[in-house]
Amino acid sequence: MFKNRLKHPVFGLVAEATAETGLSAYVVGGWVRDLILGRASKDIDIVVEGSGIELAGLIAQKLGKPHKLVVYKKFGTAMLKADGWEIEFVGARKESYRSDSRKPIVEDGTFEQDISRRDFTINAMAISLNSSNFGELIDLHNGMSDLEKKAIRTPLEPDVTYSDDPLRMMRAIRFAAQLNFNIDCESFEAISRNAKRISIVSIERVMDEFNKIMLSPYPGKGIKMLRSAGLLKEFFPELDAMQGVEVVEGKAHKDNFFHTIKVLENLCENSDNLWLRWAALLHDIGKPRTRQFDAKVGWTFHGHEFVGSKMVPRIFKKLRLPLDDKMKYVQKLVLLHLRPIVLSETIVTDSAVRRLLFEAGDDIDDLMTLCEADITSARQEKVQRYLDNFKMVREKLAEIEEKDRLRNWQPPVSGEDIMETFGLKPCKEVGAIKTAIREAILDGIIPNNREEALQFMMKEGKKLGLQPLHSPN
Ligand code: ATP
Ligand code: MG
Repeated sequence: MFKNRLKHPVFGLVAEATAETGLSAYVVGGWVRDLILGRASKDIDIVVEGSGIELAGLIAQKLGKPHKLVVYKKFGTAMLKADGWEIEFVGARKESYRSDSRKPIVEDGTFEQDISRRDFTINAMAISLNSSNFGELIDLHNGMSDLEKKAIRTPLEPDVTYSDDPLRMMRAIRFAAQLNFNIDCESFEAISRNAKRISIVSIERVMDEFNKIMLSPYPGKGIKMLRSAGLLKEFFPELDAMQGVEVVEGKAHKDNFFHTIKVLENLCENSDNLWLRWAALLHDIGKPRTRQFDAKVGWTFHGHEFVGSKMVPRIFKKLRLPLDDKMKYVQKLVLLHLRPIVLSETIVTDSAVRRLLFEAGDDIDDLMTLCEADITSARQEKVQRYLDNFKMVREKLAEIEEKDRLRNWQPPVSGEDIMETFGLKPCKEVGAIKTAIREAILDGIIPNNREEALQFMMKEGKKLGLQPLHSPN
């Protein structure tokens, strides 16, 4: 019995209204699942045998506190918002599907029909809100036992469930990744058989689920499932292509897919930033295209960071991900992901550190977090050695940053300064002097301040045969 856990006043009002009207109402789906799992949620779905809109109207009248009621006549639903809660009232319905669309033909139905059209048994439980048996759990498809077994299973035949609405395949894997559940064997096989049908779902919806997997506690688990079910190659072939190992002359390279998954999992321990997680997912995406076997050194992936960063905009566009600064951020991290390793392996010069600070700007800390996640050796002493090296790089970065303030660096002398001093219009000499000043600062030839930069500008101008109109100011 869940009577004592139906605390929101709306539940009591619904019970009152069912007694007055003879309508039946149940709280269903995700809210019930999350209640049992102890995950708080403010999204409530209420199924009504009869008109959901009528019941919502009655509740709104009874509520007597500030609220907002929105009625969607066309869909037969109503949304009541109060105290940050969103309560949706829907008439019970049954659905029938056509093969070319995941949008069903919807008709009024019974509560049982409504429940059995739901995607998974764990999402098909209901709690009665009727005054006669208020708070009683109605579990027609053994959802409770599947919750205990941590199993994702469909109420009806899985092939039918997934074929009708292929988005459910993404949802199955998303719930597995969010809840650390397993997908029932028969269900998983049905997903594998129906994977190609994901093509009838819009890429936006697919990616909505994919990003929920990315943000979940177990994204690696989810993405591995996507691959082994054959879904990944349908919408994200570049990632799928990372899998596999080739052996030439007895030499194998590491499997880039599983390496990537490990990096993503490492990163997730330290960051819940979706786009940093995306950078981890894509950091080696250029490897399959740059892979070469060299008889002397074995497998190489020269330039994979350049090729990878060039692939980012195309991938984002195809997957309808944002093309704004989020994409640029991912692209930048993919491009720079080897640089801290280079810094850790050589005797670090100040100028190499300055250049990295200049190029990474405010994203330098995220870049370091990504690089630390990129250490996937199974040998603990090796991992520790790399981590210690990166610690030194971080210290060096902090030291140079403190001294030179190169994050989001603006040159201390502008193009206007140069034009004004030498009486020039925009021309290539202006660009050449600007570049020379930037390089001199990054190389540590002059300090990062205006006076020294102006003097350097005068010298560079002289070299180009320019006459200043006045001394610099
Ligand atoms: P969350 O809100 O965390 O995404 P949820 O289970 O509440 O999880 P919603 O998308 O809010 O998911 O859907 C609410 C309920 O509607 C689900 O619990 C399920 O019963 C049903 N449902 C949602 N999408 C589908 C679908 N594609 N096929 C069948 N039933 C679905
Ligand atoms: Mg929900």
